[in-house]
Amino acid sequence: MPHPLPLSSKGGLWTKEKGEKEIMNYKRQLVTAALPYANGPVHIGHLAGCYLPADIYVRYLRSKGEDVKFICGSDEHGVPITIKAKKEGISPQQVVDKYHKIMGDAFNEFGITFDIYSRTSSKTHHETASEFFKTLYDKGVFVEEVTEQYFDEKANQFLADRYIVGTCPKCGNENAYGDQCEKCGSTLNATDLINPKSTLSGEKPVLKKTKNWFLPLDKMQPQIETYIESHKDWKTNVYGQCKSWLNSGLQPRAMTRDLNWGVKVPIEGADGKVLYVWFDAPIGYISATKNLTPDWKKYWQDKETKLVHFIGKDNIVFHCIIFPAMLMAEGSYILPENVPANEFLNLEGDKISTSRNWAVWLHEYLLEFKDKQDVLRYTLCSNAPETKDNDFTWKDFQAKNNSELVANLGNFVNRTLVLTHKFYEGIVPVADEYTKTDILLLEEISKFPDKIAASIEQYRFREALAELMNLGRLGNKYLADNEPWSLVKTDAKRVQTIMNISLQISANLAVLMEPFLPFTSKKLTAMLNLNSGLKWNDGKRTDLLLAGHTINTASLLFDKIEDDVIEAQIKKLADSKKQNEEMNTAAIEPQKPEITFDNFSKMDIRVGTIIEAEKVPKADKLLKLKIDTGVDLRTVVSGIAEHYKAEDIIGQQVSILINLAPRKIKGIESQGMILMAENDKGELSFVSPTKENMNNGGGIK
Ligand SMILES: [Zn+2]
Repeated sequence: MPHPLPLSSKGGLWTKEKGEKEIMNYKRQLVTAALPYANGPVHIGHLAGCYLPADIYVRYLRSKGEDVKFICGSDEHGVPITIKAKKEGISPQQVVDKYHKIMGDAFNEFGITFDIYSRTSSKTHHETASEFFKTLYDKGVFVEEVTEQYFDEKANQFLADRYIVGTCPKCGNENAYGDQCEKCGSTLNATDLINPKSTLSGEKPVLKKTKNWFLPLDKMQPQIETYIESHKDWKTNVYGQCKSWLNSGLQPRAMTRDLNWGVKVPIEGADGKVLYVWFDAPIGYISATKNLTPDWKKYWQDKETKLVHFIGKDNIVFHCIIFPAMLMAEGSYILPENVPANEFLNLEGDKISTSRNWAVWLHEYLLEFKDKQDVLRYTLCSNAPETKDNDFTWKDFQAKNNSELVANLGNFVNRTLVLTHKFYEGIVPVADEYTKTDILLLEEISKFPDKIAASIEQYRFREALAELMNLGRLGNKYLADNEPWSLVKTDAKRVQTIMNISLQISANLAVLMEPFLPFTSKKLTAMLNLNSGLKWNDGKRTDLLLAGHTINTASLLFDKIEDDVIEAQIKKLADSKKQNEEMNTAAIEPQKPEITFDNFSKMDIRVGTIIEAEKVPKADKLLKLKIDTGVDLRTVVSGIAEHYKAEDIIGQQVSILINLAPRKIKGIESQGMILMAENDKGELSFVSPTKENMNNGGGIK
């Protein structure tokens, strides 16, 4: 029986009326980055999509001295992990253990400063997700329904989400999944797909009845609309996607799945069912916060907390509609204040793809570009797909390093520090007298923190970074206009002022670059012998380095990246493209349904030797073979004539299945079957012992 749905969530914190904008002064922020799915390592698309902007945002808030917690962890449930496990012949837990470590280590080394990197296979998470579901169930939120779901008879399994592919009814993409079309971004139900096909067996699935619990998004639509409309500061791409879902009318969505990997559905009569991965994953933010601090409620249930989710565009519906709907229905949580989703980053003009290995993998980058985290952070941020899809190219990466980081930022700082050592033995000189230009410059410098902050607070990180680079450019121009290296011969006093100001700009850069280029900031702070506890607003000061202060030895902030390094990366991608094309012709058959050892041991397979071979008349493919099986001599007709010549195989050892029921082929009784290996081009090869002393009749087991 379907339960009635409460139309307003009593006890909830959601009180804003449509169109009303509450001006909030938040006391703290909770920032989350999409839980990366633990079936593969992290690539640059993930970084540009959410981890890097989230990290910049959080580092900025920390620098402002705000109370902020930065939450992430591995998303370890769902169908793709079980598919991967099956493919690799290991357990789902082994899959997630492997990638949880790879991802966590790579994020850490790249300077993504999560306060916690948790995981959804944790005990806390299972308990939290379970409780959450139970609360909704007890409140009568779910609609319990027996529906027909696709079932693979060959694999004897219900086909949830990614176990099923078919044609997207909205855009015609032939490889849409049972829960989502990755081409047009539509969320789907498996039964929406045209020409559905099981990814387990390739067979057309049948419909079979099963009970599941649905979140009635259709009935919740008015509440969700109110929520969306009362937030005027959505990014346009995010608002646009939300509107399009709302306009086409929300549909009830099953929050449970017939699957054995995930959080068990905590109610009676739900054996063999787990929570839908998109029900449990966002709750992962809550359980991770629980794992981080006993104070977690403050961050999730206090109205004075601002909740911000950084994600990629494929997750917008889950964070702007489904998760808020779950939170509203539960009633004791705050709702996301913003979801600054980015679009996709492409690579060399082509969509990044894990399965096609078309990606720059973070763990590989970190190995191949030692100590160059900031070069990638810079390139990805300055090129971030904030409003539309964007492209990463290695040439652009090189150009950004050489002509922006080296030639602008690095050059300015290096000239300043080298001249300070040369003229003053590393001691900050006294500023003598400011000219009118100096005064204007100092005024301008002090405006940078607010300008950069304004962009960051609106999630415009490209703009913020460009502004930071303008500060470097200002410094470069100041040095070029004043030429202290020549002027020092005629006006040493003036040069003291010029160098003092240039040093101040360098110090301000060290403070303001921290969110974007944390490794370089640390290096520069050390070279300037600057107090490392400086905060964002110290970047407004123009006296961070007092006269008489001694700076440390200077070294280059950035090195030029040479052509051969870039060529090597381009070649690596080209190789992977070539490999892909070769693999594309290879259709690897999916694994067959499980069998018992008893099933296997019924087959009597022996080592045998071919003692006679001849072509079967009027049959191009067939050879008639006489085999010494050790047990007896027998005749076998085998379809190998296109792969082996009769005269070449006399004396060849083979594997032969001897207890297969005899069968007449072209009038000849075939008494067994020779085992053959087949490659992706359809070529056949005998499967033979690799040692010479295997006698005929020896068992194969
Ligand atoms: Zn589509």
